[in-house]
Amino acid sequence: MSKLVVRKMELGPIGTNAYLLWEDGGNQAVLIDAPPDCAAEIEPVLAENGLTLRAIWLTHGHWDHMAGASELAGEGVDVLGHSDDKMLFEQPAVMSAFAMPGMEFSPVGITRWIEEGESLDLWGRKVSIFHCPGHCPGNVVFWIPDEGICFVGDVIFSGSIGRADLPGGDFALLERSIREKVYVLPGATKLLPGHGPDTSVEIERGSNPFVRP
Ligand SMILES: [Zn+2]
Repeated sequence: MSKLVVRKMELGPIGTNAYLLWEDGGNQAVLIDAPPDCAAEIEPVLAENGLTLRAIWLTHGHWDHMAGASELAGEGVDVLGHSDDKMLFEQPAVMSAFAMPGMEFSPVGITRWIEEGESLDLWGRKVSIFHCPGHCPGNVVFWIPDEGICFVGDVIFSGSIGRADLPGGDFALLERSIREKVYVLPGATKLLPGHGPDTSVEIERGSNPFVRP
């Protein structure tokens, strides 16, 4: 198995982390989250590395994570999301009150709805999907045990957690998601969040002030 490359790119007007994944020497790529106007940044990286985008995996339906998906979607690109955020993907205008003034969003056409406990294949690696509601109803995290990494979107951040006060948010649910789905992963697992720096399960279990194990 070749080395998995994870290119972290902070994109869009409020600095959302997108992650472009490919295998060293490979010709396919997967994008985790698609901030607004991301195509202009992602396309040159694809071209430089001789990559074709095969899939966009969306951690949740907030505009800053998915409004760029329609720029990159097209034939041969699978777009994955959880059905509990269906309304946000299909009618993104409902969140426009929480976005930047004047921004308009195109609906995102999800081609495959994903569920708790499902597995994906990433060039021979297993990817486990866990449904982690609380920040918004359809949050999912993508855990790649072979690589010791988990893409957590806005569920948990370095020293912080996702907001639970936006429509569809629920702090008790978020707390449960973090305890039961994130804190139970191996301590060395690197957490790659939707905003800010990386962290690990061990660090957050030991010192996250908002959700104690
Ligand atoms: Zn969010």
